[in-house]
Amino acid sequence: MIKQALISVSDKTGVLDFARALSALGVNILSTGGTAKLLQDNGVPVTEVADYTGFPEMLDGRVKTLHPKVHGGILARRDFPEHIAKLEEHGIPQIDMVVVNLYPFQATVAKEECSLEDAIENIDIGGPTMLRSAAKNHRDVVVIVDPADYGPVLAEMKGTGQAAGDVGYDTKFRLAKKVFAHTAQYDSAITNYLTSLGEDKQHATRAAYPQTLNLHFEKVQDMRYGENPHQSAAFYRDLAPSAGSLANYRQLQGKELSYNNIADADAAWECVKTMGGFEQPAGCVIIKHANPCGVAIGADALDAYQRALKTDPTSAFGGIIAFNVPVDGRAAEAIAKLFVEVVIAPVFTAEARQIMAAKQNVRLLEIELGEGQNAFDVKRVGGGLLVQSPDARNVLPADLRVVSKLQPTPQQMQDLMFAWRVAKFVKSNAIVFCAGGMTLGVGAGQMSRIDSARIASIKAHNAGLSLVGSAVASDAFFPFRDGLDVVVDAGATCVIHPGGSMRDQEVIDAADERGVVMLYTGTRHFRH
Ligand code: 5GP
Repeated sequence: MIKQALISVSDKTGVLDFARALSALGVNILSTGGTAKLLQDNGVPVTEVADYTGFPEMLDGRVKTLHPKVHGGILARRDFPEHIAKLEEHGIPQIDMVVVNLYPFQATVAKEECSLEDAIENIDIGGPTMLRSAAKNHRDVVVIVDPADYGPVLAEMKGTGQAAGDVGYDTKFRLAKKVFAHTAQYDSAITNYLTSLGEDKQHATRAAYPQTLNLHFEKVQDMRYGENPHQSAAFYRDLAPSAGSLANYRQLQGKELSYNNIADADAAWECVKTMGGFEQPAGCVIIKHANPCGVAIGADALDAYQRALKTDPTSAFGGIIAFNVPVDGRAAEAIAKLFVEVVIAPVFTAEARQIMAAKQNVRLLEIELGEGQNAFDVKRVGGGLLVQSPDARNVLPADLRVVSKLQPTPQQMQDLMFAWRVAKFVKSNAIVFCAGGMTLGVGAGQMSRIDSARIASIKAHNAGLSLVGSAVASDAFFPFRDGLDVVVDAGATCVIHPGGSMRDQEVIDAADERGVVMLYTGTRHFRH
């Protein structure tokens, strides 16, 4: 039975209604200065902690609740008679619920003008202490750090049955876990901030990356196995992933996602998200083993899918398909003919869902088509991590430089821009042939650029696609003219790449000699 609660919150969202409801249930409320004032002003009966302990809040609020009458009341074991006797000896009533959220440290240091002094004053001391006391004693104390839990806790307290006026152990345990995750994250934010300060230890000169890196992710699921069956695996997501990121997927049907499914689904989704802004509204990406084996734009989902599939129907078997437009019944019917692992779209129409329901093993994922960029990319290496900003640069037509004598036609320009966007998502060395808003041949992951060029043209040939008049993108410069010769021999008439090689002039001369258009992007898209 919850008889007494201590409420001390910086973020006062929802606290008034919650306190009022607790009060109506007969709970005695203790509160710190600002919170107590809010409750009093709104007619909720409350005792100030200062009156309760007999000690005023002092040192500019640094000491408010750090008192044995508070912490004894929280930490005493209700099942230890000696603990209860001690409370009685010192006149300490029990505190059965702690509702605390902390000084907004993260929001404070996120401000450009934040000084070290501002940051330090926003390190909460009493709040985490109460949270930890209550979470440690969660068998008997309810602890709430997130206003989203006010509703569920109240509902449980209002319930009839054994736990009337209280909450069950499962809830108490869940709330305690949440607290330790929260305080760990809070302390990490402090460490990250302090270690990111510049030489003057004041402000402004923050290094791009902090000296120590504390990452916090929450587990979404354990997996049956990892990349291979003898590896174990789990999927973790950011505590607050942005709406448009893969981690926000909603699975409509199908088996549980595997490790490789998630990795490939991410590649598919990130690539298809860049397919907006072309002359055709719908984009479709088919991924196999982390590489696109078909990308196309089209009039609608079906059109884009059929064109993407043409690039490499053999490899598309068992692939992962992503769309940037709703998948309707017509598209679903076509997809259902192929064996696929995962289909991703912002939305599946009711008809599409009905059709896909006949293929129960296919995993359907809905993800909001929102902006969403990871703050950073990480790659695990032996005993460490490599961290970098994500490859978020999108080359615009204005960034391009024509280096050949020949100028591109508007159609070639469209094809080159499309090819360039796809190349960013192909493992290096990447060579991508395209025309008319679809890939014709993709050469991925080779150790030499010339081999990627050869493979891309062989694959186009195998798929029965003509490369005559096609556009080619290369994720990095051509180190020699040989790679260029391969793609021109295959039929390409325009080429886009970053430029920047020692032999740039030799390659430009080759383009002029062969009579093809060549554009520089000035941006490289290695992907390993
Ligand atoms: P209020 O607005 O009620 O005056 O203050 C609420 C905030 O004070 C909460 O964020 C809570 O975590 C924090 N707090 C509670 N007790 C203490 C304490 O003893 N020291 C410090 N530094 N903060 C406290």
